[in-house]
Amino acid sequence: MRVNAYAAPAAGEPLVPTTVERRAVGPNDVLIAIEYAGICHSDIHTVNGDWGPQPFPVVPGHEIVGTVTEVGSDVSRHAVGDRVGVGCMVNSCGECESCRNGDEQYCQQGMVPTYAGTDRDGTTTQGGYSTHVVVDADYVLSVPAGIDPAAAAPLLCAGITTYAPLRRWGAGPGRRVAVVGLGGLGHMAVKIAHALGAEVTVLSQSLKKQEDGLRLGADTYFATSDPSTFEHLAGRFDLIVNTVSAVIDVDAYLGLLAVDGTLVNVGAPAEPLSLNAMSLISARRSYAGSMIGGIALTQEMLDFCGEHGIGAEVEVIDAAQVNEAYERVLASDVRYRFVIDAATLA
Ligand code: NAP
Ligand code: ZN
Repeated sequence: MRVNAYAAPAAGEPLVPTTVERRAVGPNDVLIAIEYAGICHSDIHTVNGDWGPQPFPVVPGHEIVGTVTEVGSDVSRHAVGDRVGVGCMVNSCGECESCRNGDEQYCQQGMVPTYAGTDRDGTTTQGGYSTHVVVDADYVLSVPAGIDPAAAAPLLCAGITTYAPLRRWGAGPGRRVAVVGLGGLGHMAVKIAHALGAEVTVLSQSLKKQEDGLRLGADTYFATSDPSTFEHLAGRFDLIVNTVSAVIDVDAYLGLLAVDGTLVNVGAPAEPLSLNAMSLISARRSYAGSMIGGIALTQEMLDFCGEHGIGAEVEVIDAAQVNEAYERVLASDVRYRFVIDAATLA
C-alpha cells in the first residue's frame, strides 16, 4: 500500500510531503495506523548527515504510537484495535548472543533501524512520519491504557534510552543521579529517575527551565554556564546521564562523580568526545555508553510508566510544522518533545 509521509529528500534539506510503499502484511506482521510520531534529535542528526551518508529520501520517526488495523496469520501477541508502539528498531537476527540476551539493539548482525536501514527483505526502512507502518510483531510494543497516546510516543525512544542506563547503573533510593541537558531525553530521565526513587539533579546550560525541572521531579537544578557549579558539585554523583546532542567537556563532568561513579553517554554528537584518563583514574570512575534498550526492557519501561503515570511533556504539531520544529530543537527550544499528529498527514 502507498501511504502519505514526510521525507528529507537529501542531506540538510527541508522535509517535504511524499508517499512511501508499505509491504503487504506477512504472517508475522502487524499493520499499524499511526496516531503520533515523536521528533527525536537523532532524526535531525540523521537527515543532516551528522552520522554519515543516508539512503535518501529518508522518512524519519522512531517514536511511533498507533492502533493495530491488521495482523498476519501467525501473530498472537497483538490484535486489531490494540494501542501499540514501535521504537528505534524493527528487526534483528534473533540468534546471536546479544539477541538471545534480550539486547537486540546490539545484534551482532546489526539491528534493523526503523528508518534509513536495510530490512531483512532488502528494502529500505521508512519511519513514523507517516500514516501507516508494517512491522514484525516481535518488535511491536503494547502501550498501557493509562498513558495518553501523544505523551506515550516519546517513550519509545527517549523513554527507553534513559530507562535502560538508569536501571543498569542502579538509580534508586540513596543514589544521587545527575541528568545533563533538559531536552527530550533529559526530561524523561528526570521523570524516570525520580520515580525510581533517586535524588535527581538537572545540569542545564542555564536556569531558564529550572521551574520545569523541579516540577518534573528534580530535587536540585544547576546551570553549567556558571563555573561555580563544577566546584560546588565536585565528587557528588553516583551516576550522571549525559543527554547532550553536542560535544561537552567530559573531564568537567567526570569531576562531579563520586568514587566508583559512572558517567553514561547517551547523547550522540557528530564530533568525537575526548577525556583525560586521570579524570577516571583519580576516583575509579567509569565512562560508558548506552543505546536504546531491548524489546523486553522497552515493554518493562512502558509498563513502569503506565504504573507511575509517566508520559512525555509534548507539543503536538501538524506535519507541515516539522521543519520549524527541527529548528527549535536545534536551538534547545523544545518543551520537551515535539510530536507529529499523524492525522495531519492523511
Ligand atoms: P534534545 O531534545 O535536543 O535535547 C538535548 C539537550 O542538550 C538540549 O535540550 C540542551 O539542554 C542540551 N544541549 C544542546 N546543545 C548543547 C550544547 N551545545 N551544550 C550543552 N548542552 C546542549 O535532544 P534529544 O532528542 O534529547 O537527544 C539528545 C541526544 O541523544 C542526541 O545526540 C540524540 O541523537 C541522542 N540519542 C541517543 C540515543 C541512544 O540510544 N543513545 C537515543 C536517542 C537519542 P539544556 O537546554 O537543558 O542545556
Ligand atoms: Zn530517538
